[in-house]
Formats: sequence, structure tokens, C-alpha cells
Amino acid sequence: VGDDPASQLYVGNKEKACNRLGVFSKTVRMPENTTQKELEKEIARANADPAIHGLLVQMPLPKHLDSARALELILPEKDADGFHNVNTGKLLRGEPAAVACTPRGVMYMLKSAGIEIAGKDAVVVGRSNIVGKPMAILLMHANATVTICHSRTKDLAAHTRRADILVAAIGKPKFITADMVKDGAVVIDVGMNRVDGKFCGDVDFENVKEKASYITPVPGGVGRMTIAMLMTNTVDAAEKVFG
Ligand code: NDP
Repeated sequence: VGDDPASQLYVGNKEKACNRLGVFSKTVRMPENTTQKELEKEIARANADPAIHGLLVQMPLPKHLDSARALELILPEKDADGFHNVNTGKLLRGEPAAVACTPRGVMYMLKSAGIEIAGKDAVVVGRSNIVGKPMAILLMHANATVTICHSRTKDLAAHTRRADILVAAIGKPKFITADMVKDGAVVIDVGMNRVDGKFCGDVDFENVKEKASYITPVPGGVGRMTIAMLMTNTVDAAEKVFG
């Protein structure tokens, strides 16, 4: 809904990923002045359409719309983003669920790189519902000892310096500097900040890469995994229908 330039880019990337994989996709673009009722009608339409196995509402919505209500109207079994309360509740309890794409992508990266998680000290900077919180829960389920930091954390660097696995999901360019990182740490940069027309992460990549054993770049790191996991959540949802 509306014409947020970042959203246009993200939606375009999702359409391209579907096309590449042979997944049918349909984008419903609605004007800025869309009413809550009109939005809810579109969600209900997609919920009822047997040709649609996964759907999402691209955030952010214009301020006059109720985002939380929109997310709750998506059928949990079609919740491609994994933001529905039913799915976040199941995630918390360790039950099978559609998991938020960015944290799911981070776990996939850690596992496919053969990084041991059990017993490690993991520090997640950021506690949003879409990244920080589900990230921390997934790391905890993988038996890491997890610390969650946020804007009210006292002496952030004292926490980040203890991290074997450090996840930055803050939204502040190059905020995590080399002196905040332990030698040999695995550093995952979720941040996506636009500075002078270019994307950069929350981590000072050039300096931190000298200390880290693994580090993800921005762009070209977590962002690609987010889209890959959106596709995975959708295929998982379709497989549940087809058996
Ligand atoms: P939010 O703004 O919702 O959350 C940011 C978090 O960072 C908050 O918990 C906030 O703390 C914390 N924070 C802010 N300032 C500080 C500080 N000085 N010290 C410690 N913590 C701080 O952002 P999101 O979680 O939605 O996104 C985070 C970043 O990840 C953004 O750059 C976003 O663009 C990017 N992103 C990237 C994706 C990808 O696919 N690569 C997907 C989703 C997001 P508090 O709670 O106290 O306010």
C-alpha cells in the first residue's frame, strides 16, 4: 500500500525470486489513501483463494492503517512472513511454525557454514518483533546462551565483546565497531541502511572483518537469505496443502 521506495524495491525482488523459481506470484498494489476496510477485503480474498499458499502484507503501511490488525487477518497457515501471533507463539514454544524470514535465514547460514551454536554465547543487538526477538528465540532453541541488547542496554560493548556469535539488527550504519567484537567471533549483520545512496550494514565491515572468523556483507548477505526463506516458507505452506 502506498509508494514507499524501499518497499517497491523489496516487492520487486520478491517477484523476481518467484519468477526465478517458477512460483506463481501476484502483487496487489493499493494507493496511499486505501482504507482499512479495502485492505482487509484484499487479505480476505487472498486467504480464500486456493491458488495462493503464502501471502504477506508489505510493511510499513501508511500511518492511518492498522498494521497489527492486518497481520492478524492473514491465515496463519498462509503466513509467508511468519509474523502472525499464532506462528510467533508456536515459535516461542518450539513447535513447528512459519518462522520470520530474516532470523530463519540467519540460522540457515550458520548451519550451512558448519558453525557450532550449542553452548556458544550469542548476543543479539535489537529486539524487534520481526528480527531481534525471533532471532534470540531461534538461537536459544539451538542451545546458545543468548543475551538480547537494545537501546537501553548499559555498556553495550561489554556484552558484544563476549559474543561468540554476534547478530546486529539495529538500523544504525556501521554502529558495531572492531573494538566491540571478540577475536574470532561470527558476526551477522542484519542492518540495511542507505547512506549517500548506497546500502551499508550495522557493522563496520572493513575493520570488523579483520577480527571476525565469519562475517556477512551488506548488501549480499542476510538480505538474500530473507528472500530465500520467504520462498521456503511459501513452499512449506504449499506442501502442507498438497501433502
Ligand atoms: P527496529 O527499528 O524495529 O529495531 C531496532 C532495534 O535496535 C530496537 O530493538 C532498538 O532498541 C535497537 N537499538 C536502537 N539503537 C540502539 C543502540 N544505540 N544500542 C543498542 N540497540 C539499539 O528495526 P528492525 O529490527 O526492523 O531492523 C533492524 C535493521 O535490520 C534495519 O536496518 C532494517 O532495515 C534491517 N532489516 C534487514 C532485513 C534484511 O533482510 N536484511 C530484514 C529486516 C530488517 P529499542 O527496542 O530499545 O528501541
